[in-house]
Amino acid sequence: MFSYRHGFHAGNHADVLKHMTLIALLHYLTQKETPLTVIDTHAGAGLYRLDGDYAHQSGEAGEGILRLLKQKTENETINAYRALIAQFNSGNLLSQDTKVYPGSPFIAQALLHNLDRMNDRLRLFELHPSDHRFLAGNVEQLRANRQVMVKREDGFEGLKALIPPPKSSTGSRRALVLIDPSYEIKSDYQKVEWAIEDALKRFATGCYAVWYPIIPRQEAHGLPRRLKTLASQAGKTFLHATLNVGGTGLDMDAVGTFAAHRTGNVSRGLSASGMCIINPPHTLKATLDKALPELVRYLGRGKGQGFTVD
Ligand code: SAM
Repeated sequence: MFSYRHGFHAGNHADVLKHMTLIALLHYLTQKETPLTVIDTHAGAGLYRLDGDYAHQSGEAGEGILRLLKQKTENETINAYRALIAQFNSGNLLSQDTKVYPGSPFIAQALLHNLDRMNDRLRLFELHPSDHRFLAGNVEQLRANRQVMVKREDGFEGLKALIPPPKSSTGSRRALVLIDPSYEIKSDYQKVEWAIEDALKRFATGCYAVWYPIIPRQEAHGLPRRLKTLASQAGKTFLHATLNVGGTGLDMDAVGTFAAHRTGNVSRGLSASGMCIINPPHTLKATLDKALPELVRYLGRGKGQGFTVD
């Protein structure tokens, strides 16, 4: 426990898929003039240095976001992602000038631009002592008062107390929940499933987004199917998107390589990951159908590369 540090992986292809999807979700959900609660059950440190030791050691951002920033594209979602990264780098869009990478809490914070006026809320959980300290310090700089809450607690447990979210003055309740564990321990897969099952009982109309690694491990392989079943049992819609950059060049065994990857020792160990969305906006499939082929073109490393959206 606690050997995983997201700093090694910040801005890699898995973050690109996850964060681009998060941006697409937030663009849609913030169009309405009613408060939105965003809950990030596994928040990480919030901000990452791409010119620091962790990023240099793994080289993953170089094959992910930094490579994407070098491309010119007409794709709206990719360009919104690029513009958001630029906000954290004095407006600079150039790959070589990009030193700071925002994690999911800061992507959400940037897009919940009306945190005060509209009573939007951001609720963050992070268990790792150092990453929690960094996250709390980074959030402190925002001076966002009670609209942003950071807790050093188990996000799976913390989620239960936060849903359903409070009613707005018009009586509506809206929340986006991102569940993005490190899957450092095998039980995380089961915990994700239980969290979704419980959440759908407490608040069936919430939008739930789950990231998972695509590795040759039974628990990982079965997760999207199990989440889809939970969604359909609750009568809810489901979307599953994957990005595979291919060409790892590594013989991935079921456990060892991914564990090594997660601690930052093997930078090319993970070649694919997926996002499962319950109650996705009706626009999300079309958005990802347009953006993902471009991500494959820009980030693809060879054999096995591709995407799916279904
Ligand atoms: N969501 C972040 C982002 O996209 O920028 C990255 C999160 S990282 C993949 C997973 C994080 O969850 C790690 O920082 C880890 O320390 C933390 N963590 C692990 N188990 C946890 C738990 N049960 N509750 C809260 N945080 C946990």
